[in-house]
Amino acid sequence: MSTTLLSATCPASAVSGPMGIFGGTFDPIHYGHLRTAYELLATLRLPEMRFMPAGNPPHRPATIASNELRLQMVRAATAGQSGFTVDDREMRKQGPSYSVETLAELRAEAPTRPLCLIVGMDAFLGLPKWHRWRDLLTLAHLVVAHRPGWRAPLMGPLGELLVEHGTGSVCDLHEALAGRIYIHAVTQLEISSTDVRALIGAGGDPRYLMPEAVRSIILESGCYARKEVGRG
Ligand code: ATP
Repeated sequence: MSTTLLSATCPASAVSGPMGIFGGTFDPIHYGHLRTAYELLATLRLPEMRFMPAGNPPHRPATIASNELRLQMVRAATAGQSGFTVDDREMRKQGPSYSVETLAELRAEAPTRPLCLIVGMDAFLGLPKWHRWRDLLTLAHLVVAHRPGWRAPLMGPLGELLVEHGTGSVCDLHEALAGRIYIHAVTQLEISSTDVRALIGAGGDPRYLMPEAVRSIILESGCYARKEVGRG
């Protein structure tokens, strides 16, 4: 990332640059995730994009691959890309893990650093169902990555939220610690973990849908072979 470019365009930028937080089950991680994270890292001029694999709490349908394997795949997929880091705190929690609590922890650890929680448009549309959803914007910015077929809401609580908090300026994400919503279109790769699992379960090869290192872990562990492919 170019600090020169940043200081040229965002005069009052915050100290250490925003941290992007990219959560997901990553069961498995694929190029749809990686391309999104990479484009946002560059566009938002983030020094760090932190991948945060979700835990496997008892009240939710279990992931197909174990926590250990999903973490191994995320580490393998992100290794070597400057700015990509992995944080397994949600996997280490015993009970349910809520974004708002994770963000509160990160805020306590980095009191002067803007936080950007990355969510897909599908997740954003379900925001009012998240635990303490209105508190999220007191802790972090929301960066909404467009996925195919989704549009920003114009009305209702989310439409109002966008009017109040929406911004088209990357500088706003650098200048405030939290509180803005930035919507960004990312290159649309129609890959989903569900489809990848279905493909492998049916005997197909996931080559070119994910980094080779992730494919090797999947093939060596047999974690998606001939198993229940859905989680619902
Ligand atoms: P599943 O099919 O198991 O629901 P998924 O492929 O949607 O999984 P998740 O781990 O649930 O992957 O997604 C993590 C985050 O990545 C979410 O914010 C989701 O919107 C986003 N995401 C998933 N697939 C893509 C894609 N192809 N392009 C852009 N973003 C994606």
